[in-house]
Amino acid sequence: MLDPTAQIAQNVAGIRDRIDRAARRCGRGGEDVTLVAVTKYVTPPEIRAVVEAGCTDLGESRPQQLWQRAEAEPNAAVRWHLIGHLQRNKVRRTLPAVAMIQSVDTPRLVEAVDRIAEELSLSVPILLEVNVSQEPAKHGFSPDAVEPFLARAAGLRSVQIRGLMCMARLGGGSESAREDFARLRKLRDRLDDVCPESISLDELSMGMSGDYEVAIEEGATIVRVGSALFEGAL
Ligand SMILES: *Cc1c(COP(=O)(O)O)cnc(C)c1O
Repeated sequence: MLDPTAQIAQNVAGIRDRIDRAARRCGRGGEDVTLVAVTKYVTPPEIRAVVEAGCTDLGESRPQQLWQRAEAEPNAAVRWHLIGHLQRNKVRRTLPAVAMIQSVDTPRLVEAVDRIAEELSLSVPILLEVNVSQEPAKHGFSPDAVEPFLARAAGLRSVQIRGLMCMARLGGGSESAREDFARLRKLRDRLDDVCPESISLDELSMGMSGDYEVAIEEGATIVRVGSALFEGAL
């Protein structure tokens, strides 16, 4: 048995190695893929261990938890990503704490982030969350709604749209996840040709513990991994 810190370091190394191999299978390198460590299941000591192991992009799905964690242990090396639903009344407190909001799921939220970022003199990178599997219970732009939104998005000043994010449908296994990921990539490729010049859609955030290698094979540039990082350490 390893102690938790050593176990987490070993998990990080193993996941980086698998990321690297998946990236090379499709002619890329592991350095092209950002590993976001999702910390929603763990406590500050495990977060410290994952940061010590070199993983400085951290993700939380609940805004309040992200604020608390970012404020409790300020660390200039850490980049926090919000990966879950954000209500408009939580935007003001969230913006100063994050490096990126990956889960922007409505035009109204994009507009609120833009307006408040401008008030706070911040420039905020975001991803548009797309409900690729069109499940009613899920947040996200419907795939058909992204193009009309982008056509009106050229005037945003304080929000930088960097790409798209999705979650694969639950319980479908890795081949069904692959279809969802391929759908997001194809949508991005199509939108790249039509979106305003000021917007780049280079980032694709897709893949979690069970399917990040499949996601990389389908073009992910960001993977969000939680449980696999902390296996054996909790
Ligand atoms: C929890 C969560 C993850 C990580 O899930 P694991 O299966 O534990 O890796 C990734 N993305 C989002 C949006 C999440 O909420």
